[in-house]
Amino acid sequence: MNVDLQRFTRPCECGHEHKIAVKGIWIEPGAVNRLKELLAGYRHPVIICDASTKKAASRSMEEYFASLEVLEVTGNNIHANDSYVAQVQERLNGEADVLVAVGSGTIHDLTRYVAYTRGLNFISVPTAASVDGFVSTVAAMTWHGMKKTLTAAAPVYVLADTDIFAKAPFRLTASGISDLMGKYTSLLDWKVSHIVTGEYYCETVSRLEFEAVREVESVLDQIRDGDPQCMEKLMYALILSGLAMQMIGNSRPASGAEHHVSHLWEMEIINNYIDALHGEKVSVGLILCLEYYEKIRRAIESGTCRIVDGRAYETELLQETFGARGKYQDVLEENDPNLMEELDPADLESKLPLIAQELAALPESDRMRGLLAGAGCVTRMEELGMPADKKDLTLRLCPYVRRRLTLLRLAKNFSFPGSLY
Ligand SMILES: [Zn+2]
Ligand SMILES: [Zn+2]
Repeated sequence: MNVDLQRFTRPCECGHEHKIAVKGIWIEPGAVNRLKELLAGYRHPVIICDASTKKAASRSMEEYFASLEVLEVTGNNIHANDSYVAQVQERLNGEADVLVAVGSGTIHDLTRYVAYTRGLNFISVPTAASVDGFVSTVAAMTWHGMKKTLTAAAPVYVLADTDIFAKAPFRLTASGISDLMGKYTSLLDWKVSHIVTGEYYCETVSRLEFEAVREVESVLDQIRDGDPQCMEKLMYALILSGLAMQMIGNSRPASGAEHHVSHLWEMEIINNYIDALHGEKVSVGLILCLEYYEKIRRAIESGTCRIVDGRAYETELLQETFGARGKYQDVLEENDPNLMEELDPADLESKLPLIAQELAALPESDRMRGLLAGAGCVTRMEELGMPADKKDLTLRLCPYVRRRLTLLRLAKNFSFPGSLY
């Protein structure tokens, strides 16, 4: 399948003319065979991969691994962070004039960042349907211990070869399913922020994403069985989520409170290192957020949600937590200026019914947990080695990891029976 990119770049009802940097996307068996043609004109292509992604693609890409320079990133625990960026920068041949990322999220983030700093094009070959970031224009990085979204290059082409990604270990695919289902809360957060602050919002992009998410939701069993066509639907939905980020110009449509949970745990502020995939952490983050959002909805509907002034930073809490890890200044900097500085409590109160209306469209947390567990995805903190008693602290702290308004952040102004505040 050749993804029709034209339909995403028409003038949009939101008033914007959305831009997409990717020039071509193929999701099909044998997609990598197009690489030869796409590399014509380049003198020195370099493949960037790691040992396992190289193995995953070795059969389909045999001739390319034999004929092109290969930079195999090495290390025990390869992550998208400053030290692995340094490794790629040091080892990358100065002659390289195009990069080919063969891998999952981490290899893509490293490649897109290095490609950006060097002003090079890169071509994406995803080896698993594990994340939605393949076509992203930003790289999610851990930079000196803080989670950062750094400007990076989008791929010029994506060659998603079903013969490769449909055979990925199921754990990676399950992680992709979870990353995708996380759009329920990220899109909700975006809409709610739009309602409360007037932040730019595009209904078309949101609808496109919802459609793709629901399409995947309807074939989870087949994905679990490895059905290639349903795997392609998952890959398409993940790539579409990346395109949505390009169309909006940032990760707003694809990353909300559920990702903030994941980022907080990755920063190891209240926990030790969690050996889990991106989507696995997002999966649990999604369930935690859905549970709390349900409580908010019930409180609004039953008239028990009171507005309190929760606009100020919780200084003491931040000192005890981020401060204990030497990250107090960092977290203040990330949040400055305070997102809720200009929030009018009376206005927020008047918008509660609209917020409840949006919340009514979310899937129930129990149903989502059942759906994800049935699809082989992680759904509980304990499965990540996170003690369940860290749940409330997680929900209170995670809105501070990014300067992005979510309902979870706004909920610092909500008090109701059973609320965190
Ligand atoms: Zn639009
Ligand atoms: Zn994600």
